[in-house]
Amino acid sequence: MIKPDQAPEASVVPFAAPRKTVTLIPGDGIGPEVSDAVVRVLAMAGVPLDFDSKAAGGRVFATGDATGVPEATIASLRRTRLALKGPLETPIGHGAKSANVTLRKLFETYGNVRPIRELPGIETPFSGRGIDLVIVRENVEDLYAGIEHMQTPDVAQCLKLISRKGCEKIARLAFEIARAEERPSVTCATKANIMKLTEGMMKRVFFEVAADYPDIRAEHMLIDACAARLVSRPESFDVIVTTNMNGDILSDLGAALVGGLGFAPSVNLGDDIAIFEAVHGSAPDIAGRGVANPTALLLSAIMMLRYLGMGEKADAVEDALMLTLKQGEDLTPDMARPGSPPATTRGFVKRIAANLGPAGQSARGHLRGGVAGPLSGVGTARSAPSATVEKKVVGIDVFLDSGLSPDELGHSLERLAAQSAFGLKMISNRGTKVFPSNGAETDLVDHWRCRFMMRASDGCVGDAQIFALLSRIGKSHRWVHVEKLQLFDGKPAFSLAQGEAAPAETPSLVVAAD
Ligand code: NAP
Repeated sequence: MIKPDQAPEASVVPFAAPRKTVTLIPGDGIGPEVSDAVVRVLAMAGVPLDFDSKAAGGRVFATGDATGVPEATIASLRRTRLALKGPLETPIGHGAKSANVTLRKLFETYGNVRPIRELPGIETPFSGRGIDLVIVRENVEDLYAGIEHMQTPDVAQCLKLISRKGCEKIARLAFEIARAEERPSVTCATKANIMKLTEGMMKRVFFEVAADYPDIRAEHMLIDACAARLVSRPESFDVIVTTNMNGDILSDLGAALVGGLGFAPSVNLGDDIAIFEAVHGSAPDIAGRGVANPTALLLSAIMMLRYLGMGEKADAVEDALMLTLKQGEDLTPDMARPGSPPATTRGFVKRIAANLGPAGQSARGHLRGGVAGPLSGVGTARSAPSATVEKKVVGIDVFLDSGLSPDELGHSLERLAAQSAFGLKMISNRGTKVFPSNGAETDLVDHWRCRFMMRASDGCVGDAQIFALLSRIGKSHRWVHVEKLQLFDGKPAFSLAQGEAAPAETPSLVVAAD
């Protein structure tokens, strides 16, 4: 256990508030350097915190622990419900899961809040525009569910899972933040025009939730247009809420608008747990050189103080940091001004310490995007699960690994289905219909989605009929994956292939999804 008042160079200001314990995860690369810097600043500001230092990430993977998050770290977090975390390295392309994602999922920190605000003295092409926005990123679903399969040796698949509950929770969090910070609008950014069921669900649920917040303007933008507007008119945004992968990319873009990854704080929020961390990673290129910029983690710690109700301390530390940035001396190399020699991380910390004083020095107002206190209730999905929906199976998609041509495969499958409850409707290759051909010039791969619809238009497919068809197909072809095609309350609950006609009697898929 490290007590901040044991840190060297600390001049502790007496403070009567009860002490809180925070799990400190220094992490990898520059993590230990920036977390040490932050602990020192907090100590010098007399913040009543104790840190329970615990391991996670690259060093843990290196010991053979495939989770990257040891039991002792999990136990500490279960106790403290609060962490300040450095970046964790993830092995790329093989083996272990990301320790970051493991932590987020383990504690259901469903919301990732990333405030982006122009900082004094940090010159960017956008300086003077008054950028002050918050990106609220869904944090546990989407492609980050991490469900991937090799379908053939050359074709990989990743399931993008989006739930109504997940969308509702993140949308409510975004509106609650907007309301708490008196921000007039929330923008939902999705790719609902292409992924009508997954991203489309986020858009639909966002507008349902918006009805509970009539005081806040709700708008939807496609994620690509949102990225463009973030560059052309970043000052026009208040709160952006989006799905996990979109949010990951947008928030790095947002960080770059205000100076780079060294300046972007964040918090992973669950109902009664919060993990504060910088947006940046372990920056291996500068690790160990003592020159990392701790601003992003310090801003994250300032958000943490507000979460803990230590507003005055938060203001004092933030004012000292802002004053230091404004003065422009003793800054780390990534932010050093021309004519002013760059400082080490410790030199920068010393300058902040020298600037610590009573709160209220900042004329610019304080960082928003913080959430005061645990979020009990906000993350509760209020709408009832759609349990009363009538579900009817009307067909199956069978995914095949095959080196045949579309016509060879199509005719073979038509023969195999002849005596079954199904007819082959079409075959697609990477989402484009190739059988019966409509002239698409598709660059074919060995992975086929073969759509079988039941023959009787008023019937319903049972598992026995599905197994019978699969058994027949399996004698001649290698099937790798099957998906039931369902109608929910009479509307198709599946997408169409590019070039596939919607069934005449059920034309409402797109409408249902938009
Ligand atoms: P990165 O670590 O964020 O670094 C990208 C570049 O940004 C660095 O090379 C450095 O560039 C600059 N930079 C980032 N933080 C800085 C700071 N505090 N001070 C000064 N410069 C800073 O991204 P990456 O190289 O893509 O990822 C490296 C590792 O971090 C990977 O293993 C990745 O999985 C992990 N990661 C972890 C988290 C997390 O724990 N939340 C997040 C992202 C990535 P220059 O020196 O060239 O200016």
